[in-house]
Amino acid sequence: MEYPPYFNPEMELLSRSEIEALQLRRLRETVERCTQSPFYKRRFAEMKLDPESIRSLDDVRRLPFTTKQDLRDNYPFGFAAVPLEKCIRLHSSSGTTGTPIVVLHTRKDIDEWANAMARCMWMVGLRPTDIFQNTSGYGMFTGGLGMQYGAERVGMLTVPAGAGNTKRQIKFIRDFGTTAIHAIPSYAARLYQVMQEEGVDPRRDTKLTTLLIGAEPHTEEQRRRIEEMLGVKAYNSFGMTEMCGPGVAFECKEQKGMHVWEDNYILEIIDPDTLEPVKEGDIGEMVLTTLNREAMPLLRYRTHDLTRIIPGPCACGRQHKRVDRMKGRSDDMIILKGVNIFPMQIEQVLLQYKELAPQYLITLETVGSNDDMTVEVELNNMFTDDFGALEALRKSIAHSLKDEILVTPKIKLVPNGTLPKTEGKAVRVKDLRKHY
Ligand code: ADP
Ligand code: ZN
Repeated sequence: MEYPPYFNPEMELLSRSEIEALQLRRLRETVERCTQSPFYKRRFAEMKLDPESIRSLDDVRRLPFTTKQDLRDNYPFGFAAVPLEKCIRLHSSSGTTGTPIVVLHTRKDIDEWANAMARCMWMVGLRPTDIFQNTSGYGMFTGGLGMQYGAERVGMLTVPAGAGNTKRQIKFIRDFGTTAIHAIPSYAARLYQVMQEEGVDPRRDTKLTTLLIGAEPHTEEQRRRIEEMLGVKAYNSFGMTEMCGPGVAFECKEQKGMHVWEDNYILEIIDPDTLEPVKEGDIGEMVLTTLNREAMPLLRYRTHDLTRIIPGPCACGRQHKRVDRMKGRSDDMIILKGVNIFPMQIEQVLLQYKELAPQYLITLETVGSNDDMTVEVELNNMFTDDFGALEALRKSIAHSLKDEILVTPKIKLVPNGTLPKTEGKAVRVKDLRKHY
């Protein structure tokens, strides 16, 4: 059977002016809906903001920012813009600090989320003939149900395997003829590691062609590595619980940045210090306004994710703006000896070494009156145990890292598979420093 090339041509093929007209209409509806939310009702009153005065897309800059702290302070239902009886699900994310936030969904919100997710999957070539295995945890983590609903909407045979149990995942991949999987980058690398241990060659022994990869920052080097290992095309997927979950921004087949679905979100990139917009193409903090959410609309939500808009049109023909691979989160930035460092800068250097596996851990420690950085990284299976060669490799890595991050970390090369494994997102940085 011949399938059409787009899941939702009406939205995917909008021109810039059509996108903007739709955004303005939906923005005005959203602001109106916010007057029903206890949080925004208070905020609008404090700011003396008349919802009727929002008349152009530029007026979005007159709306208040919303932060994760606002969500925490109004936990659990202080943002609800509809009565709870209209809501059919909530998701919660605790982040790293443990203070939870809650996001509510009406039936329509869940439906639109499934549509957005299906649109992403269809865009990278997935069709009802595919067999889709999801290695995300289900439950509160949105990568589970979010991907599930999207995959069912595409009409694929779905395998809700859930997180962990890697040998069983591999058995399912082989037994069911899984063609597409969703995995976070650290887990995709782990999957390959275990395949190697089991003598499974993904190219020879599986039907895998497509990997949806996201939920944590990773470099282009990491993506290419994983594609090479598993013999798949890997497409970057961006999402966050506050914006539903996955399905916010997704790479098309060009693999040159992720289209933000602008019928669902207004995208701004701001300077996190001045809160002013950056020049198009410059890096800043991504700020998103929901345009298609009933239960819990969010205005100018500060994601803390750092990225830039890729200027110019995409070869795929879609006019929805593209954001570049996330550089990291502003709150992930390491400040060591007065230098600002992002873990992704370190990953980028490490993965240029064919001798290294893509698992690493950065530890920050206070030694005497000094703060030190140690980078532990796993060696590839094929690499030698010749001491001289290892020593030369260690020196070379330290040198290249110094060029990139300006401080010289200690390098520890450890055997494949020995760094601690986490279920869920990888922990890349351990900060044991004493803060005075
Ligand atoms: P989810 O459950 O969808 O992963 P969370 O709310 O737990 O959502 O985490 C969202 C955060 O995960 C984002 O703000 C961002 O920092 C990170 N993230 C999600 N997708 C990507 C991606 N493709 N690249 C880099 N970081 C990502
Ligand atoms: Zn494109």
